[in-house]
Amino acid sequence: MSIEFECPNCNGCVLEEVLSNVTLASEIHDIHNDGQVFYGKETTEDGTIEHYQCSRCGYIIYDTAGECVSTPEELIKWLNENPAPIKLIVIIRGGVLESMYSSRSDFEIEILDYDLEECAESEEAADAIKNEHDRLEKEAEYLHQIH
Ligand SMILES: [Zn+2]
Repeated sequence: MSIEFECPNCNGCVLEEVLSNVTLASEIHDIHNDGQVFYGKETTEDGTIEHYQCSRCGYIIYDTAGECVSTPEELIKWLNENPAPIKLIVIIRGGVLESMYSSRSDFEIEILDYDLEECAESEEAADAIKNEHDRLEKEAEYLHQIH
């Protein structure tokens, strides 16, 4: 099961691994007389993990001792201690509930237990959303997307 990341600073969801002492090799696809060089595929070798950061805002992940998290094991520990909030995503089209899912894969089954076939009428759809919302409110953030 995959672990979701959510940046505590900006809510970004993409993590970057920052390495130092990396050997980078780039294929040269074309070189011109005027000195212009055109590169192709790059490969990296070696390298040490310096830290992990949010790709959107650069927020660096520290452990509780104030040290940079710098191994996959430490990162997994941090992710488990700082879980991304669960969001309930509700798609309504033309007043009809079209789909409803959670932002976390381990939460999917509970939401899919709900029989969407019975939500064809917009009034029922509204009730269904309210019920799901009430159920999730205590433990989760939610998000309505109305198209
Ligand atoms: Zn961020």
